[in-house]
Order: sequence, then structure tokens, then C-alpha cells
Amino acid sequence: MLCAQTYHRRHAGCAHAHHKEIQMTDGCSPLTRRSFFHLAGALAAVPILTESHFALAQVREHGGSGLRGMSFPPGAVLINANENPLGPCAAACEAIAKAGPLGGRYDFPLTAEVARVFSEQEGLKPGYVSVYAGSSEPLHFTVMAFTSPERSFVTADPSFESGMRAAVSAGAKVNKVLLRPDHSHNVQAMVAADPNAGVLYICNPNNPTGTLTSKKDILWALEHKPKGSVLLVDEAYIHLSDAESCIDLVRADKDVIVLRTFSKIYGMAGIRCGFAIARPDLLEKLQTFGQNPMPITGAAAATASLKDATLVPTRKKIIADIRNDTFDFLAKHNYKFIPSESNCFMIDTGRDGKAVFSAMAAKNVFIGRTWPVWPTYVRVTVGSQDEMDKFKTAFHEVMSAPPQSASIEPISPLRAIPLSHLS
Ligand code: PLP
Repeated sequence: MLCAQTYHRRHAGCAHAHHKEIQMTDGCSPLTRRSFFHLAGALAAVPILTESHFALAQVREHGGSGLRGMSFPPGAVLINANENPLGPCAAACEAIAKAGPLGGRYDFPLTAEVARVFSEQEGLKPGYVSVYAGSSEPLHFTVMAFTSPERSFVTADPSFESGMRAAVSAGAKVNKVLLRPDHSHNVQAMVAADPNAGVLYICNPNNPTGTLTSKKDILWALEHKPKGSVLLVDEAYIHLSDAESCIDLVRADKDVIVLRTFSKIYGMAGIRCGFAIARPDLLEKLQTFGQNPMPITGAAAATASLKDATLVPTRKKIIADIRNDTFDFLAKHNYKFIPSESNCFMIDTGRDGKAVFSAMAAKNVFIGRTWPVWPTYVRVTVGSQDEMDKFKTAFHEVMSAPPQSASIEPISPLRAIPLSHLS
């Protein structure tokens, strides 16, 4: 592995180095000069941030002093991180139990198997799926690979923040484009945001709104996007909705990278598995940033989940029924919310959303965060029926009381991103 100084010494004075892609080797994957500096920048900058980091940052900032370290009070209702209380399916739990004792080994064939099963189900040729421990890594790496100080990142607002954070690492400008009034991505405005953009990020269904963007719009974006850019279509929540997937565009070898995760409908956020699905030459660019061996429990559980044909339709209905029951409650009490096709939705509280979060936390119900563009909205994850019943009671009490101010603990945003628990 070359360090940055060694690289500088070796190439100092090389007249052509500036414009040339120089092959470097770290012992396993070839590094180009440009990608090396991307990597060097990444190492010095923002870490890969997942939903759990954002959710916990909100909890720590506004949860009040009742929180000790990373633990929630007993009986806490956790509808703050778009997790799935159903957890892994029975077949996945069996696979995890079986894989556990084999955990002394890396067992790459288990990782290859999950890619093979998924590729077969989706009609993808070999080499079009890269397996990661969740989709946060390939999201981060895609942005690192295709944005730069010259090539910006374009995202909807509000949308999932991880890509924006990665763009900051890459030194790229972030263009935020408001969702349309129907809460779909405004693809025309996104394409127009920067003729030299490197990544257009479309989260479908969108986190936090749970709203859809039509395939027609995505195709329009693909046709009109800046030359050399990629469309990053994040399908983390797709199974919960009727949205049309973009994997067919990958099959057709377009400039599209699709992300999938097992953290949502499959209930494996704590087990970890996700995919980047794209043309092999695009996936290769992500490899520059490394690829950890998969936890073998994650790979085995993902394969078992994919083979369970009833999982997606059954869980989609369970979550939709609970979501619709919650919407009935909100409508009955004239609360304003955005109808969603996902396991999260937004409520316009009409008051400071962070204060509502604090007041709910004081009742041991932890809802999701607010987004700067909509400070009166809070995101709520669809939990179990019991959790949502507790949510309804607490929310009604909070909204029936006079507005309060948020109980903000004086900690810096960086300290609010809890990373130590991951080490
Ligand atoms: N993309 C979106 C839109 C998400 O909401 C999340 C998690 O909440 C992810 C990607 C990544 O999740 P994970 O890293 O758990 O696969």
C-alpha cells in the first residue's frame, strides 16, 4: 500500500502526471492517480454515515437528559430510524444460527451465492451485483467515485442525507432541488441544476417522505442527464411500494447504479447486507474505495430471505395495514401528513418539529428527525401495531398541549454523530 507522501515523491516533477491516469497498486485492486486522491481525501474527511447515525444524532441532540450513553429507557418506542420491528424472517434466523459457528472464516462463497441468487432472480448477467454490508457503503463510494470539485452532486430536498455528506468528502458542490408539490423528484430541475453534475441521486420511494417518482420521470432524467454522469437510484424501500424498479436499466447497460438493502422489508438492519447493481465498469469504480468481507451471517441470511417467496408480499401488507391505520388516526384528528408508500411518513406538526421530537421523547416515544427545509415536519417510522398505538396516544397528548421549545443539549453536530459505538 502506498502512502500519500510516497506517491508524491515518486511522481514529483513528472510533467505528464497531472493529466494522466497512472496505475498504482495496493496489492489487490488497481488504483488510478485520480482515484487515489479521492481516497486520500475520503480518509481525511467525513465517515460513511448511515440512517442509524442520523437517527441517533437526533436522539442525542434532542432526547433530553434521560438518555444515558447509547441506551434508550426501558420500554422505549423506537420509530426513529426506519427499522423493521419484524426482524429477519424465520429462514434467515435459521441461516444465521447455522452460519454463526462457521464465523472463524471469511467464507467468500456465501457472498458469491447471495449475488448469484439475486442475479438469477433479476435476470442479471454475472458481474452486475456487488455485495456490501448494507447499502450505505456503495452509496458513499458511488458519490466519491463520480463527484469531485468539478462534478457536483444533485439531490432532492428533503431526501436521505448520506449522499450529501459523501459529496462534501469529495469536495463536490451539493445541489438540493425541492421536491415537486406532489412530492416526487423534480427531475427537470435536477438535470438543469448543473450541466456538469457527476451524480443525480433519486431515492425511490424517497426517504423521508415515502413518496414515489415515476419511471417516466426517471427515464427522462436518464435521457437528459449531463454527459459522463451517473443516475444513482436508491431502492432501499422499493419493496414496500408499487414503484417500478430501475434494474431493467442496469440490464440494458445504462449509466445507472441501483442500490438495494436488506435493512428495510427484510428486517436485517443489524445483520447487514446490501447491493450495488450496475454495469461491471461502473462497479469497478466503487472498488477503488475498498470492500470489506461480508459478515457471513449477513450473506447467509440474505440468501435465505431472497428464497422466501412469501416474505415481500406478506410484510408489504402488514406494514401497509399499520401505516394506513395510523393515517386514519391522523386524518380523524385533522393532523397534516404526507401519504406515503413506505415504512416512514412525514407529519406537518405546524410547530417546531424538534420541540415535538423532544416532547415525544419525554413520553418515551422516539420519532424521527426533521429536515432543515421543512422545520415543522417530523418523520415517523411505521413500527408494530402496538408501537403505533403508543405513538398515537403520545402524539395526541403532545399536540393537545401548548407548543414547547426543543430541549437541545449543547453538543456539537460532530459529537452528535455517534461513531464510538461502531468501533
Ligand atoms: N438508502 C436509504 C434511502 C436509506 O434510508 C438507508 C437506510 O436507512 C440506506 C440507504 C442504507 O441502509 P443500510 O446501510 O442499513 O443498508
